[in-house]
Formats: sequence, structure tokens, C-alpha cells
Amino acid sequence: MTQVVERCENCGAPEREGLACCEYCDVPIAGRVLGIRCPSCSEVAVPEARACPVCNQSFTKGCVFCGQVAFLTAGSCPRCHEAFEGAEQRKKQREEQQRQQQMMGMAATGVSVLAPIVGQAISSQITGSGGGFGGKSGGGAMASLFDMIIKSNDKKR
Ligand SMILES: [Zn+2]
Ligand SMILES: [Zn+2]
Ligand SMILES: [Zn+2]
Repeated sequence: MTQVVERCENCGAPEREGLACCEYCDVPIAGRVLGIRCPSCSEVAVPEARACPVCNQSFTKGCVFCGQVAFLTAGSCPRCHEAFEGAEQRKKQREEQQRQQQMMGMAATGVSVLAPIVGQAISSQITGSGGGFGGKSGGGAMASLFDMIIKSNDKKR
């Protein structure tokens, strides 16, 4: 045991502090736990690392829903338990859904004043179409009534 600096068993490169695998040949370093793979340079750091020891890429990210800071490796937010996978898109989708629900609520209210039976038919049409009902055309009076409601809602916004 004459080694002072610990070196990679495979390529002999000095082992960098905070990395779990050799910086040069990617062989796991004995005694270190594999943690986070840097999304920027692909080096594998130890689990405690909060930033990449090689390129300084941060290993933490903020939750788009509640702002909680968590590791990049975390599957979901430790505070609100939202999955990080596709969180941006999901947030947008949810905002879109909420907007549509509000519109549907307004539409249903407007229609129920005019004609309860037609209103029911339209609401079931909306729920059945699974969103994206803007593109539906044709269908006579019911559709034009529906168009009218959407347009009047558009003006309110
Ligand atoms: Zn190596
Ligand atoms: Zn890196
Ligand atoms: Zn959160």
C-alpha cells in the first residue's frame, strides 16, 4: 500500500472527489456508491453530490407545482408528490383543463337557461369528446348554439 493518491484500477487516472465512476473510463470506483448521473456530461457522481464535480451542472431542480427543490434523481416532488416526469407539460395540460372546465361550466349555465334538454346533450357531447371540441363543426342548430357560447366566452376573456 504505497499509493497516496487513489487511482482508477482500470486506467490509472486520479479519482476525482465526488465522482462514483472514473472520470475517464467510467469504471466504478471501489468503495463509492453510484449516485447521480450528470445530465450534462454523463459522469456518475456520488449520491450526496449536489452538483457535478466535473462540469458543475446542478443536480437539483425545482418543482413546477410547489417550488420545492429536489434532486434531479427524485422521481417526484418530496412536498407535493407530483412526478417530475413531464411535469411542465402536465402543468400546462392541467391549466388548459381548468380553463376548459370553466368554459364548460359557463356553457352549461348559459345553455340551461336557454334550453335544459339541449344543454344536457351538449354537455355529454363535450365530456365524450375528451377535450379538443373546438374543431367539431356541423350538427346543425346544436353546433351553432355551442359555437355561439364559445365565442361569447372568448369575448369575456
Ligand atoms: Zn479509469
Ligand atoms: Zn457534469
Ligand atoms: Zn411540488
